[in-house]
Amino acid sequence: AKTRGKGQHVLFEPEMHKAALDRLVVEADLRRAIEHDEFMLQYQPIVALETGDIIGAEALVRWMCRDRGTVPPGLFIPIAEETGLIVPIGRWVLRRACREAKRWTDERGLPVRITVNLSGRQLQEPGIVEDVRQALADSGLAAAQLVLEITESMLMHNTELSMSRLNALKALGISLAIDDFGTGYSSLSYLQRYPIDILKIDKAFVDVIDKGGEGPVLASAIVALGETLRMNTVAEGIETEAQRGHLLTLGCELGQGYLFAPPLDAEDFWHLLLARGAR
Ligand code: C2E
Ligand code: CA
Ligand code: CA
Ligand code: CA
Repeated sequence: AKTRGKGQHVLFEPEMHKAALDRLVVEADLRRAIEHDEFMLQYQPIVALETGDIIGAEALVRWMCRDRGTVPPGLFIPIAEETGLIVPIGRWVLRRACREAKRWTDERGLPVRITVNLSGRQLQEPGIVEDVRQALADSGLAAAQLVLEITESMLMHNTELSMSRLNALKALGISLAIDDFGTGYSSLSYLQRYPIDILKIDKAFVDVIDKGGEGPVLASAIVALGETLRMNTVAEGIETEAQRGHLLTLGCELGQGYLFAPPLDAEDFWHLLLARGAR
């Protein structure tokens, strides 16, 4: 097999072996990407649904791969998680996002909230609390402006560890959001036990909100749950005016989606912020 070309070689491998090989190739490329600074961030505005004013942004990572072009996170984050490379990548994301949010805050003289996705693997790292503290200290960003998004599955596994890590992160003064809320099949009891501030209503519930019948039931239940537990709700993947209207009726005040803006390069986000930023 050694004498064959790379493309030819994989043709003769069983599917599983092929997947493993591809994974190794991507892993090697990701290591190179970290050294060569091939990542960039895009920012999707988070807006007040009533006015459309931008109150902050979610940072979303992109890999500008030398030979693959722009790779969406859905394709490389799972491999980065398996290999542990998400730890250095996530640290870079956090530091870059805090620095950029601080620059926008200073230039406008008004605080911009920045939301960063945290993977389960990062939360397991003993260094995560120090990484966050350091990113805030080095950038000068106020902790109150940083939101970290975690998923339900991160709370279900390793409960003791998650609990102490999240409490330590909260103690820094940041906020915690649950991403894709309602898709994780987890028990609701953890919501009261963990220091959560924000529930993000998954796009799946927003998609059916204007479809009549049972459509809005789950989104409505999540907003009510948020109100009961004194948490904010942020709706994701809003694409239509009708969805925006329904969410407002349900009492959901914040959201993001293509209706307002897709994820934008830093420069484009900054210009939109100047035009539509909350005062
Ligand atoms: P997510 O955190 O749920 O992010 C929302 C995804 O929905 C983003 O995809 C965004 O571009 C997309 N989106 C936003 N508005 C709309 C809309 O109106 N319609 C539709 N159809 N899609 C919309 P993206 O950027 O490809 O990210 C995919 C996932 O990758 C994210 O899902 C998140 O789980 C993960 N991810 C992205 N950046 C990071 C990161 O820095 N660290 C970690 N650990 N995960 C990340
Ligand atoms: Ca997210
Ligand atoms: Ca989400
Ligand atoms: Ca998602």
